[in-house]
This record gives sequence, structure tokens and C-alpha cells, in this order.
Amino acid sequence: MQNPLQLSLQTSLKQHFGFDHFRPGQESIVVDALAHRDLLAVMPTGGGKSLCFQLPALLMPGVMVVVSPLIALMQDQVRLLADNGIAATFLNSSLKAGEGGERMGALLRGEIKLLYLAPERLLSSEFLDGFLPRLAEAQGISAFTLDEAHCVSEWGHDFRPEYRQLSRLRERFPQVPVYAFTATATPRVRSDIIRQLALREPAVHVASFDRHNLYYAVKPKTSRTYGELLAQARAGGAGIVYCLSRKRVDELSQKLRADGIAALPYHAGLDAETRSQNQERYIRDDVSVMVATVAFGMGINKPDVRWVLHYDLPKSLEGYYQEAGRAGRDGEPARCTLYFGAGDIHTAEFLIAQKLDPVTSEPLLEEQRQARQQLRQVLDYAETSACRRQVQLAYFGETFVGPCGACDNCTTPRVTEDWTVPAQQLLSTVARLAKLNQRFGAGHIIDILRGAKTEKLIRQNHETISTYGLGKDRPVEDWRHLARVLKHEGLLGETQDGYPVLTLTAGSWQVLKGERRVELAAPPKAEKAPPRGRGN
Ligand code: ADP
Ligand code: ZN
Repeated sequence: MQNPLQLSLQTSLKQHFGFDHFRPGQESIVVDALAHRDLLAVMPTGGGKSLCFQLPALLMPGVMVVVSPLIALMQDQVRLLADNGIAATFLNSSLKAGEGGERMGALLRGEIKLLYLAPERLLSSEFLDGFLPRLAEAQGISAFTLDEAHCVSEWGHDFRPEYRQLSRLRERFPQVPVYAFTATATPRVRSDIIRQLALREPAVHVASFDRHNLYYAVKPKTSRTYGELLAQARAGGAGIVYCLSRKRVDELSQKLRADGIAALPYHAGLDAETRSQNQERYIRDDVSVMVATVAFGMGINKPDVRWVLHYDLPKSLEGYYQEAGRAGRDGEPARCTLYFGAGDIHTAEFLIAQKLDPVTSEPLLEEQRQARQQLRQVLDYAETSACRRQVQLAYFGETFVGPCGACDNCTTPRVTEDWTVPAQQLLSTVARLAKLNQRFGAGHIIDILRGAKTEKLIRQNHETISTYGLGKDRPVEDWRHLARVLKHEGLLGETQDGYPVLTLTAGSWQVLKGERRVELAAPPKAEKAPPRGRGN
């Protein structure tokens, strides 16, 4: 049975937006918003956040002020609302002189329910001390909605210092509730939002981050990768190709065009006009493929993206989730493919090692540590033979029990091989060195296994270690892959000793004693490492 409030909400939903049902999570957010209390709502991209504040805005007296970081995003939302016959407007610097005044007049007369503003504008004294108090007096302000609220947090992926200042709204208008919305789900960002915005006992809603219509796959990066990309592009549907560097974006978009695909580039190195033109043409379906760096995406409202392909390894799993999540916002099936080669790891490690203090050139240790941790989570995802969805959602603190039926590992389980013997060889090398009170990084351990004759090895007299040369038939890449997987699974430890060194864990001993087997999915095929020193 539905109670009267639910029934009337559903009627309003139909009346204003034409939808028959709420999506999961929407209704309870709307109910809390209508109760006039602070709110933090975390919902995945495409989950339908906008409606959660737009509907309350229509049902509450007064004007709702919506803060949004991007002008394009505001214009988009106002246009969509206008299509539904909802009185909304935005004020920004792109307006001609008279136009702004006219809109303010309409607001003061109560003709408009939603006002979109960029944070800088809202925080200007012209607004904070001038227009807003007048508006509050004339019509009342129903709530402040802060869209993309993760921008207040340095732990998010899109920190904007001006967002911090938004806590001044609370001081200036203590009676008006604040609604914070974001698609960033990490608990740290969540608590940061509450603190930075001084939310008062907020109702916290965290929707599931499972995007059930997305199919996830990871493929090895090989000489065939471009051909696979081309086939994907030719199969039709709008797509996004994410690359790490601007150079790669330019090269790849040219190459696709030469092969008859309507593709455009997008990265921060293009001038603002080209960027907005390219984006506009993509949204209008003039072109079907956008080749881009991560600069492309936030606030791009294109619901029918059918595939997102990562040509390079993303920097974090959170980033990957957001970027891949730009596919299928309309709820229809879409495909997310990550290409991954051993060369990507070298590039990522190289870029991390380059994080230096601009003044002293000292390494930024804390940043490097964080970046390494993020890289490791990405590798966990890429190299897992478990359900990809399960690994992603676990990262957001959500328990999802696979198989999901919509990822490569669930639909075509990867062939696993028994790697117990090489694992024992590697671990016993670490154990033998430990007996000598010595600790080394993976590189040196692998040199021992492969019977290398490096100067360091000879100097240390490590040719006498009994595992010396036992693994010379396996390529270095296989050994590196094994070491990484052992680390991910907690069967091998790594600590800092000026540089990372391998150590044994309780799990290592289980493997060494033959109590535990090591199964490995076939490693990604080795790719020639790209030339170094080419960053974003
Ligand atoms: P978000 O801001 O969370 O990424 P949007 O608010 O842009 O997502 O919504 C994504 C899409 O879902 C939009 O096209 C929107 O019209 C649609 N949508 C939202 N709520 C519903 C609903 N209850 N029923 C059907 N479609 C909905
Ligand atoms: Zn799965």
C-alpha cells in the first residue's frame, strides 16, 4: 500500500516529468528534502540525481538556488527543465546586461522556481549581501542545492577551492536547508562534504553504485588493439575513447578519421572554443566518437553513449568507474572495455616517480604513496579473475556477490593456470635473503631467479643462492606479473626500505609449505614499453 504522500509524489512526478515510477532511491531523497532538512545524497552518474532536487523545488514554496560548477551543465539543465514546462533560469557572466536584470525581476516576482548559479557568482557580495536577501524577503529561498558537491573535497577527483566558501551560505542563511549531491562515493569524500559544508545532522542517502546495464571487460593491449577499437567504432553507437596523453588523443582521433570514423579529439591543450565545439558536435551526434583525456566528461549530459573504451590505464579505480560510467546513462545496455598492457604499468610508475616538489625537486612522498595505492587498486581490477563488478563495488564499500553475468570474467571465465611452483621459487628466494638479513625489491629477486649476472648481484654474491637461475625459462614479464598478483592476494608483502622491498606474509608461508595453491589467470601479453618522459 502506498501512503497519501507517496501517491501525491507519484502524481507530481508524472505531471511534471512524465515518469511513471521513481528510480531506486529517488523517492526517499525527495521525502527528506520536503522535510526541510539537510541532505547528502550520493548516487551514481545516470542514477537520476537532478530529479531529487527539482521535484522538491516545485513542491516547496520559494525559489531553490542550485549551485553547479559548470556553465554548460547549467544551461543544459535549464533547457531540459524548460522542455518540461518548468520555470528555471540561470544567471552567469555570459548574459547580456538587460537579460540578467530581467531574470532577477522574474525571480523577485515569483515566476521562477529554480535558479542555477556558479559558486563564484553566488559568493559575490552583490549576491550574498544584495540579491539573495531581497529574494529571500520577496519569495523565500526553499533550499540551497549543491550539485557535484565532491568539489569541496581535496580527496575527490575534482577539487575546486571556491566550493569551500559555500559554507558561508550556512552562516548567512541559517534557516535554509542545504542539499549536497554527488556521484563520488568514497567514505572519505562523504565525510569531508559534511564537514566542509557544515551540514546539520544531514539525512544521508547512498544509492547502490551498481550500474546493471554496463558490461565490463578488460583486454590485453596488443598490436590488435587498434583493430578492435575500429571494429567497436564501426559497430555503431556513440563512444568515448579515453587516453592518458594529449598526444595519443590527437594521433588516435586522426587515425580513426583516416579510417572513415567520425571522431573528434578533446583535451585541455585545445583552445576553449574548439573544445566546446567538439563537445557540442558530439552531443548533437554530428560525430560518433570522442577521443579524449579525462578532461572530457564531467557534466556532459549525453545519455546514449553506447561504449567507453580505455586505451590507457586509468589513474584510479574511482576515476575508471566515473569515466566508464558515462556509458549507458539512459539505462540501455552499454559496454566498457579497459585495455591493459605491461607497458602501462611502467608508464604509470614513471609518472608517479615524477611527482616532485616544483621548488625543491624533492619527491612528494605522500602524493606518490597515494598514487601508488590507487595504481595498485586499478591493477587489482585489471588482473582479477573474479567478477569485475564485485571488485569495483567493493572499492566503494558495497558488498556485491558475483557472478554478475555482465562482465568478461563472469561470462567467459578466464583460463587459470597453476603457478604454485614458480610462486614457491619466488617466495623462497625472498626467504633465503631474509635469512641473510637482506631485503630487496622485485627487480633484484627476479634477476636472481633468472640467473642474471648484474654487477649488484655479483657484488652481493647472490649467485650462490639456491634458487639462482631456476626461473630462467620464464620471461621477466611473467615474473613481474606473478609478483604483482601475489602482492594483491596478500601472499607477498612489500614495505619501504628507502625503496620498496619484498617481505613474507603469513600467506607466503602457506604457499611455501604447500598448504595453498596459486592459480593465475593468463598474464596480459607483454607490450613494448612506450618511450618514457611523455606525460599528459
Ligand atoms: P545524474 O545527474 O544522476 O547523472 P540525471 O539526473 O541526469 O542523472 O538523470 C539521468 C537520466 O535519467 C535522465 O535522462 C533523466 O531524465 C532520467 N530519469 C531520472 N529519473 C527518472 C525516472 N524516475 N524515470 C525515468 N527516467 C528518469
Ligand atoms: Zn561479473
